[in-house]
Amino acid sequence: MATIAFIGLGNMGAPMAANLVKAGHAVKAFDLSAAAKDAGRAAGAEIAASAGEAAKGADCVVTMLPAGKHVVGVYSDAEGILKHAPKGSLFIDCSTIDVDSARKAHLLAHAAGMQSLDAPVSGGVTGATAGTLTFMVGGEDGAFLRGETYLKAMGARSVHCGAAGAGQAAKICNNMILGISMAAVSEGIVLAEKLGLSHKALFDVVSTSSGSCWSMTKNCPMPGMVEGSASSNDFKAGFTGELMLKDLTLAVEAATATGTQCELGDHARRLYEAFSVSGQGRLDFSAMVQYVRKRSE
Ligand code: NAD
Repeated sequence: MATIAFIGLGNMGAPMAANLVKAGHAVKAFDLSAAAKDAGRAAGAEIAASAGEAAKGADCVVTMLPAGKHVVGVYSDAEGILKHAPKGSLFIDCSTIDVDSARKAHLLAHAAGMQSLDAPVSGGVTGATAGTLTFMVGGEDGAFLRGETYLKAMGARSVHCGAAGAGQAAKICNNMILGISMAAVSEGIVLAEKLGLSHKALFDVVSTSSGSCWSMTKNCPMPGMVEGSASSNDFKAGFTGELMLKDLTLAVEAATATGTQCELGDHARRLYEAFSVSGQGRLDFSAMVQYVRKRSE
């Protein structure tokens, strides 16, 4: 079994570290927050005094951090993880970050003699806890083959999407489609309500017709239609509206940088911005239906 450094023990990182421990790996972890350190301890990880300390002697270093600046910072700090991990270690960044920062992290890792992967996840806190995450992975073949052992301990599926940054590219494209589809489903639901259609009738038709999509059939914003959906639990996240706004912002920035016309993506980003400003950003992103309903009063 391997020695793994785990940096970032937040909502996602702590349960992911717990699954690495359950798989028999020795996990040395670090986070800036005291509460997150406690969560790491409870997960069975040894808490190090710094990220660099955690990386000493590690076969693999996993990061699960808020944004690109945190990942690049932790990689390149004078006392950071690249400085202290043994040469040839595998670096896996599971955070959702912009493609440019992901590529920069790969370059930094390679320059320091390490192998690296970008491996953002889908599945949220529930998937992180159950060990059923999907990883979208970018990096060289050899690094992917080596990383699969660790990814298997934390998830159910890993898709090798291509070279450095390809995992992040897949993640933001998927989540842009998801943000748009949830907004579309929310508008369809409120229009149906205004037209006097029952939720059950709308669900029975759309879930088996051409308008069917994950936002209707798996995370349906109408309570009582799909067992375990956030809407059936007062819109407790799940995947928060704030995180959807983050991912849509990354997608729109990438669209601007590449000259791609993503008008629906930009519109969805503005909707989720207004949704967050309205105070609902900590709810599941399917609570968009409440925002549309309120605006339609
Ligand atoms: P979180 O805010 O709960 O956790 C992030 C942790 O990183 C915090 O505990 C913070 O203290 C720590 N941190 C920040 N800077 C640090 C540093 N320099 N050194 C050490 N620790 C540092 O966030 P989360 O919900 O766990 O999400 C983590 C990543 O996963 C994000 O990129 C997010 O977009 C992505 N993600 C989250 C979800 C979800 O449902 N929460 C789903 C998919 C992807």
